Amino acid sequence: MDGAGLPETRSTCPYCGVGCGVLLRADGQGGLHVRGDPDHPANKGRLCSKGLALGETVGTGGRLLSPHVNGRETGWDTALQTVADRFSDTIRKHGPDSVAFYVSGQMLTEDYYVANKLMKGFIGSANIDTNSRLCMASTVAGHRRAFGTDTVPGTYEDLEEADLVVLVGSNLAWCHPVLYQRLAAEKEKRPGLKVVVIDPRRTATCDLADLHLQLRGGTDVALFNGLLRAIHEGGAVDKAYMAHVDGFDAALCAASDDCLDETGLDRRDIRAFFDLFLRTDRTVTVFSQGVNQSASGADKVNAILNCHLVTGRIGLPGMGPFSVTGQPNAMGGREVGGLANMLACHLDIENADHRQAVRNFWDAPAIADHAGLKAVDMFRAVGRGQIKALWIIHTNPAVTMPDADAVRDAIRGCDFTVVSDITGATDTARLAHVLLPAAAWGEKDGTVTNSDRTISRQRAAMPPPGQSRPDWQILAEVGRRMGWHKAFDYENPAEIFREHAALSHIAGQFGLDFDISALSDLSDPGYDDLAPARWPLTRTRQGGRFFADGRFYTPNGKAQMLALHYRPPTERSGPRFPFRLNTGRVRDQWHTMTRTALSPRLSAHLAEPFLEIHRDDAARTGLGPASLVQVTSPVGSAILRTLITDRVRPGEVFAPMHWTSDTAPSARIDAVVPDVVDPVSGQPDSKAAGVALTPFRADWYGFAVSSAPMTPAADYWALARTPGGWRLELAALGTPSDWERYARDLFNCPDATLQMVQDAGRGMARLAFHRGDRLLGALFVAREPVAVMRDHLVTLPGTDVQCVLTGQSPADRPDPGPIVCSCFGVGVNTLLAAIEAQAMTSVGQIGAALQAGTNCGSCRPELTALLARARIQEAAE
Ligand code: SF4
Repeated sequence: MDGAGLPETRSTCPYCGVGCGVLLRADGQGGLHVRGDPDHPANKGRLCSKGLALGETVGTGGRLLSPHVNGRETGWDTALQTVADRFSDTIRKHGPDSVAFYVSGQMLTEDYYVANKLMKGFIGSANIDTNSRLCMASTVAGHRRAFGTDTVPGTYEDLEEADLVVLVGSNLAWCHPVLYQRLAAEKEKRPGLKVVVIDPRRTATCDLADLHLQLRGGTDVALFNGLLRAIHEGGAVDKAYMAHVDGFDAALCAASDDCLDETGLDRRDIRAFFDLFLRTDRTVTVFSQGVNQSASGADKVNAILNCHLVTGRIGLPGMGPFSVTGQPNAMGGREVGGLANMLACHLDIENADHRQAVRNFWDAPAIADHAGLKAVDMFRAVGRGQIKALWIIHTNPAVTMPDADAVRDAIRGCDFTVVSDITGATDTARLAHVLLPAAAWGEKDGTVTNSDRTISRQRAAMPPPGQSRPDWQILAEVGRRMGWHKAFDYENPAEIFREHAALSHIAGQFGLDFDISALSDLSDPGYDDLAPARWPLTRTRQGGRFFADGRFYTPNGKAQMLALHYRPPTERSGPRFPFRLNTGRVRDQWHTMTRTALSPRLSAHLAEPFLEIHRDDAARTGLGPASLVQVTSPVGSAILRTLITDRVRPGEVFAPMHWTSDTAPSARIDAVVPDVVDPVSGQPDSKAAGVALTPFRADWYGFAVSSAPMTPAADYWALARTPGGWRLELAALGTPSDWERYARDLFNCPDATLQMVQDAGRGMARLAFHRGDRLLGALFVAREPVAVMRDHLVTLPGTDVQCVLTGQSPADRPDPGPIVCSCFGVGVNTLLAAIEAQAMTSVGQIGAALQAGTNCGSCRPELTALLARARIQEAAE
C-alpha cells in the first residue's frame, strides 16, 4: 500500500525561510509522499533536495514518545506539574528575571505566541529569546533603526522583476534553493538580468554571477559606504524621495573615508559594481547570514539600506533591500515578540503606552517593562547561576551557540532545565531535568510566516506518536497550572491565531506595520482553509510592498539613513590564531541534523564535516588532501577533514555548523567560535573567529560500513546514514593492539564470522564480518587516510557480498564517487566520465543523459562547476 488515492494535505516545508508549500500524502506505512504545491506563491510547485526528502524524515525511530523527569519516564500530569511548580517556586524566591525561555524559529506562530504571552505578560519578564537571534537579529535592528519597524519592504517577485540582483553574504543556491531557482530561471529567460555576488567565498551561488566580489570577510560597510559616495558623486541621488529621508549628510560624511582598500578587491571590479548599481533602477539587494552574523551586522544592514533609501529604490516592483531569513518561522517569531527586546506585533517594550495596551489586551497581571536577556547574555546568566529555571524548546544550543562548550556546561549546571523536543537524543536534551515530547512538523497545525511576509498554514498530515503533543498545548497547560486559567484556556490553534490577529489591530492603531486584524474573526473552518496571504491584512489593505509612498514608522515619519563608520574586523586573537574562521551550512543538511540526517539521500551529499582551506595555506600549514586538521581558538578546538580549495581566500577558512556529539563529536564547530556579539543587535559573530591550524597526525585512519549505527573509540569520527545502514570515518592516536577485538566492539558482533587481512608492518588491516551470507560490517584501517571506494562499499551491508576486503568495486560496477545529485543518486565520477565521453557542455545535456539536475535542481550549480572543471582539465591536456 502506498497511500495512492488518499487525500493530500496542504502544508509548508519546515526548513528554510523561503517557506515553500508542500502537498503531503500519508503512504499508509507511517511515511509521507511529498511534492511541491503548485499553488503556493513561494515555490509554485518547486522543492529543493531537503524539501523533497521530507518523507524520509518522519518515522518514529529516535522519537521522544513520553515525558521524562530526572531520567525516568512519567506521565504528562507529573511532568507538567513539575515544570509549573519549579518555575513558580523560582519566581517566588528569586523574581521573574530568574527564569528564561530559549525558543526557536522552528516553532509555529501559535506556539510562539503562547510562549511570549506567558513570559512577558504573566511571568512578567522578557527573558524569552529565540535561536533566530543567531540568524537575523541584525536585520531586525537595522530595519528598526532605518524604518522605525522591522519591515521587509519587498516580495519574492521583486527578484524576478529586477534588472540587477545583488546577493550579499548569501549562498542562496544552498541556503534558499527555491528562491535561487526562481532567480536562475528568470536569468535564463532574460539574460540581461545581472547578478552580483558579494561574498568572501566562491559559493555555489557564484555559478549565476556576472560579477563576484570576493571581498575580505567583514568589510561590507567599507564597500557600501563607497557605493554611497559613488551614488552621490554620480548624481544618482533621488532628490524627490530624499524629502522622506533624514540623515543623508551625516551618512555621507561618515562614508567619506575611503576604506575600499580594506575590502581587498580590485578597484576595477568595485567600479564595475558601482557603475552597474548606479545605472540600474530596478535593483534588489538580497542579504542573509553573511551580513547578519557579524560583530558589525546591524551596521552592514544599514549600509545596504542607506544605498536603497538614497536612490529611492525601495518598495517598488524589482527594487528594494531584501533580507532572507534562515528559518521557516523566523518572521513569525519576530511578529509575536519572540525576541527578548520586542513586545508583540512589532510593539515596543520600551514604550509605556505599548506595554499598557498589551497588558490590557491580555488582562495580564504583569508586563515586562525592560528588555530581557538576549541569547548570548541569557546563557552567560545561566552559567553564573542567575537564571535558575530554563525552558528550551526545539533548539540545540549546546551545539549551535557560540562558545558551545561553555553553553553546554552552563545548561548542565542550571538548577532546573526543561527541554521540549521531538527527540531526547540531542546534546541539549541529554542535559534536561524534564524532557517533554513535542509533536513534529508533519503532526502540527498552525501558521508560519516566510521571508516575504507570506503567512501560510502548516497542517498536520499524521497524528503525533506516543504521548507527544503540540507546543501550544504544553505551554498553555503550564500557564494554567501556574494559576492563569482563563488567559491560557485555548482549545485549538485557531483560537490563538484569532487572538494574535486581534492584538495586531492594536499595533495598527498605534500606526505600526504589522496588522493582520482582517483575520481576527476567522472561523475555525476559515482558519483550516486559510490560503497563503502576505501581510498586512486589514479591512483596507492586503499585502503589497512598503515605503514607496515615503511613509515610515519612525517618530517623524521619515526614514533614517545612518552615519556608519567602517570598523575593521576586531583583531581578537593575535598572531597565535592567524586564520579567520567562517561557519555556515551545506546544501543538504539542516541545523543539527536531527531530521535531515535520517535521510540516506541527504547524507550522501557531504557525509563528513570539513574545513575549506586555500591551497597556499594548506601547503604552508603542512596539510594534504583529506588529511585531518585541528582547529583551535582561545575558547575551544575541533578536528575536521581538510578540503583544499580556491573557493576561500588565503587566510580565511570555512567549516559547516551541522555536526553534533552524535554525528561527529570532535567537529562541533561552534565550540571554537567565541561569543562575540554585535553591540546593537546582540547577534553573535559566527564568521570571524581567529583560529590556529595544526595537522592532526593520527596513528591510524579508518573507514567502516555497517548495517547498524556505530560509536567508536577514536579521537575523530564522523557517522552518516547510507541506504543500507551507516558509514563511518575515524582516526585516532594510539593503535589498538588487537584489530579483531576493536572491530567486534565497533560492530557489536562478538560471534560473527570474520574475514581479515592484515599487514602489521604497514599498519594495514581489513576486516569483514558476516552472519550467514549477509555482511554485517567492514572496517578498513591504514596509517594514511584510507583509499577505498567508499560509494561502492556503502551499498554492501546487508547484502550477500563475499568479496569486500579489496575495498574496490568490480570492474563491471564502477565507483559512482561522492553523490552530487541526491534525487537520482548520481556521483561525481559518473558525471565526469559522462561529460568527457559525450563531450557535454551544458547542464541540460547532463540531465538528458543521467537525469541529474532534472528534479529539484539543487545540484545544478555543482553540475555547472563540474562542466567548468572538465573544460579546464581538457585545456590543460
Ligand atoms: Fe524547504 Fe527547500 Fe523550500 Fe527552503 S527552499 S522551504 S528547504 S523546499
